[in-house]
Amino acid sequence: MLDEFLHGPRIAYFSMEIALRSDIRTYSGGLGILAGDTLRSAADLEIPLVAVTLVSREGYFRQEIDARGRQVEHPDSWQPQEWATSLGAKVAVTIEGRTVWIGCWLYVLKGHMNGRQPILLLDTDLDENDPGDRQITHHLYGGDDAYRLKQEIVLGIGGIRILQALGFEIREYHMNEGHSALLALELLRRYAYTEEDIRPGESLYDIPRVRDLCVFTTHTPVEAGHDKFGYDLVQRILGDFVDLTTLKRLAGEAQLNMTRLALNLSEYVNGVAKRHAEISRQMFPGYRVHAVTNGVHPYTWTAKSFVTLYNRHLPGWCHEPELLVRAECCIADAAIWEAHEQAKAALIETVRTRCGIELKGDLPILGFARRMTAYKRPDLLFSDLVRLKAIARQWPLQIVLAGKAHPRDVAGKQLIERLHKHVQELSAAILIAYVPNYDMDVALQMVSGVDVWVNTPLRPQEASGTSGMKAAFNGVPSLSVLDGWWIEGCIEGITGWAIGDKAEAANGGDAQALYDKLEQVVLPLYHQSRSGWIAVMKGAISKNASFFNSHRMMRRYAAEAYIR
Ligand SMILES: *Cc1c(COP(=O)(O)O)cnc(C)c1O
Repeated sequence: MLDEFLHGPRIAYFSMEIALRSDIRTYSGGLGILAGDTLRSAADLEIPLVAVTLVSREGYFRQEIDARGRQVEHPDSWQPQEWATSLGAKVAVTIEGRTVWIGCWLYVLKGHMNGRQPILLLDTDLDENDPGDRQITHHLYGGDDAYRLKQEIVLGIGGIRILQALGFEIREYHMNEGHSALLALELLRRYAYTEEDIRPGESLYDIPRVRDLCVFTTHTPVEAGHDKFGYDLVQRILGDFVDLTTLKRLAGEAQLNMTRLALNLSEYVNGVAKRHAEISRQMFPGYRVHAVTNGVHPYTWTAKSFVTLYNRHLPGWCHEPELLVRAECCIADAAIWEAHEQAKAALIETVRTRCGIELKGDLPILGFARRMTAYKRPDLLFSDLVRLKAIARQWPLQIVLAGKAHPRDVAGKQLIERLHKHVQELSAAILIAYVPNYDMDVALQMVSGVDVWVNTPLRPQEASGTSGMKAAFNGVPSLSVLDGWWIEGCIEGITGWAIGDKAEAANGGDAQALYDKLEQVVLPLYHQSRSGWIAVMKGAISKNASFFNSHRMMRRYAAEAYIR
């Protein structure tokens, strides 16, 4: 069953979450979507990867919003046997002194040509394990630090062992975020010097050899986004896995910092946008941090009506999205508008059935959907309701919102409640819908069905952001704070619009800047000039979708990170 994947060397791609498809609940948000798009592009381009992740049977959670605007979290399990094949192989790791067995499932991801990529889903829910250990791979981002560390042991150390047990030949190990950095410790052990090779005062391990095998992508400048574990906990759970002095030198003296560990043991390190690479260099001085700006998978994030349009006018765009540069001249305005109206009608229908709100097809819709957390400032658009109402009186608008807050992000959940209060206060003036349970399906409908995609992060905390790139594939321009990818993607009035300027000092003035831009530029253009508006839609497609796609991103990883 695995034979077709064992012929030549592969890149092992490790990620705590991977969005394989909407109904496989192994993802929570941006990181998982990016991992999924990476693999989808690798499949299309036939770049040989093998992905390693946890099976996450219980998923992340299904979100319900109650009448008071509070997030209610429901289990969101999936059945691996419906989608994947159980492989016989088992490997063991030691956790808290116990042997924990790890089995694995094979999911085969198919590209749109002939490409196929193997995804290994690690699973500790085996009869031979203690009841507690059987749950290690159940909950994505669930539990406490100890639970997380156990998951990271299974992912990193267990993942390397499974690859070896199955007979994969691996040329590089790519850590998508620091969660999998313990894999480098397993490699240190593999390349430990033998007694007679060790020279006094020198390393016990062949560190250069391990570094040469590892690639690390860091994904967030938010400090809390970097996993850190106290050495007491590490000792209790992982034991003396590698020499403690060496570990502290590589991962931090005070705490085991997974990002530091990955940085120290990877030859190639990158951030996910140019600005993010700059910020990462400031956070971690002394490391060479490259920039490979994220992208999204063309076919996955293009609504049916635009797929049909591009197939007709720009055949081959799915394999070479660079062809979309031609959209500007080769597709008629009316055809773009018609494809957009179809996508908008589909969103309006979803909002009607899921929220009981009847949006109007001839009024603009602003869309905002992402993880609900403080730095993304989902309430910025609502910071002055009087002003917003005045704008809407002059230039009618509608709003569609969505997003989950992490179950332990109290501030994020309060933001959802606050948004619901605003929605009620504005109900007589502006139609606003909050679509519950943001997932890949809701995301595609929103990024294609709205007229403007809004993003308001606090600089410089949005490492990249990818939903605005998805919008571009559907001719939806962004109105966004200049942070992450938008610093590279924004050409004012051509691909969309900026809120404020690039400087961090602009954060405080963003609400004002957002209202001004809406009132003076964006909404008047929508209401007064159809052809002017379509020109911006075409600008988003031809200048941004042609570049901010995961095919370009994967070709760069292949050429620069995997082949060095
Ligand atoms: C694309 C996507 C994200 C990430 O969007 P950002 O713009 O990076 O915040 C999160 N969740 C879902 C379901 C997505 O489709």
